[in-house]
Amino acid sequence: MSVCSLAAWDMETRQEPSIRVGIILPEDETHQVRLSTPKDDAYRVWLDDMSGPILQGASLEVQIDDRRLVLRGGDTAIGKAGIIRLMPEAEQRLAQGAGALVRGVVTGRGFHWQKRIHTSLNGMLEFRLHEDHLLLVNEVPLEQYLAGVLTAEMSGNCPVEYLKTQVVVARSWVLAFTENKHPDLPFDRCNDDDCQRYHGTTSLTPAAVEAVRATRGQVLVDASGEVIDANYSKSCGGVSETPENTWSVAKAGLVAMVDAPTGSQARRFFPVTEDNLDEYLTGSWLAHTDIFCSPAVVPDDEVTRYIGKVDERGNYFRWQIHYDREDLEQVLRDKFFARQDPGKVATLSTLMDIRVTRRGLSGRAIAMDLEYLDPMRQIHLVQLTDQHKIRDALHEKFLYSSAFRIDIERDPDGLPRRITLTGAGWGHGVGMCQIGALGMALKGYTCEQIVRHYFEGIDIYACY
Ligand SMILES: [Zn+2]
Ligand SMILES: [Zn+2]
Repeated sequence: MSVCSLAAWDMETRQEPSIRVGIILPEDETHQVRLSTPKDDAYRVWLDDMSGPILQGASLEVQIDDRRLVLRGGDTAIGKAGIIRLMPEAEQRLAQGAGALVRGVVTGRGFHWQKRIHTSLNGMLEFRLHEDHLLLVNEVPLEQYLAGVLTAEMSGNCPVEYLKTQVVVARSWVLAFTENKHPDLPFDRCNDDDCQRYHGTTSLTPAAVEAVRATRGQVLVDASGEVIDANYSKSCGGVSETPENTWSVAKAGLVAMVDAPTGSQARRFFPVTEDNLDEYLTGSWLAHTDIFCSPAVVPDDEVTRYIGKVDERGNYFRWQIHYDREDLEQVLRDKFFARQDPGKVATLSTLMDIRVTRRGLSGRAIAMDLEYLDPMRQIHLVQLTDQHKIRDALHEKFLYSSAFRIDIERDPDGLPRRITLTGAGWGHGVGMCQIGALGMALKGYTCEQIVRHYFEGIDIYACY
């Protein structure tokens, strides 16, 4: 195991840190976990600070019992403690399925792709109680974590230059460590999309392991030598967005840009505005565009092949969602209105209008007005700001992106009957476009060329 923790790591450390990843979180409301340890790895059990037995090839269950955790092997109780750790006795191989197998781990929390999967994890497993719920933390060397991120974010069968790019970007993002999304919990990052999706060794491939090895310690640095907070999302839709328009902060290396070669016709869509939005979203030029994340460069079946096991659905480059007014009203009540202070926002009875009032450079809506009647037929106007809130409010789970046009079909009384959102891309669209980076790799660009396309004024630097 590496000696330095991620929290204590900086550029001067010059060695690989270990990272603590939240695998089962309080919000998963778990009280019991089943897992098995491999036949060829010995694990030492620790009950709080007391050394326990060594297990090999064991089927285990961890359960909450009277505000303590109980570890069981079959029908036998192995021990009871506040914190139970399973610590591998020797270095583990980095290969598909290596480590302990934990059953029923939630992935895609709260998104349209949420599901439970069995997850294989190298490294230390730490079970804790958090209030009434069970928490599982996996502590692994950072390079092993990155291999698990690489093959959870996308398939490990992607072209090798894409895999190298994704691992350099993911490493930069985790080492820049600008925002702890879980400040009250005892880990550095969770295993899900709000941090970086991580499935341990579950889907590792030799190509992914090789991409991690070939880029060991490499990060993106800005002109002052600092690691940049290298954001990425699934598909920019053709034009990427600024961090200013997305999170109201500037970040070194991150600018909005057209995801196409220099000289591309698509550059006329920079920026995307109300005037060119229709053409950008649905123009006939799309069939032959050279935008790297478009189906013209990465055909849909290639996206499905490379996108990994979690996201098996449709077309993210351009998409459409239709709502009957009543259905959209229900979504807005369940999502947006349920979270508002009832004293401030009257209950929505009838939706009258919905319009985008501000867009970023990629056409992503960053402010929207909702006009509606309350049950007393009083008219109200509320503003939704920020792409995340907009995507959350307009879909029962989460809208692909906020780069959309709204078409409203009205009844003879002028009330909306049917609302159609026609959109581009999947994700916040800041930094690297994953499908675009895949498209570049398929076209023969190298890792260095790809990162220089997506990030401005950066260098690649090996920090350990
Ligand atoms: Zn997280
Ligand atoms: Zn793109």
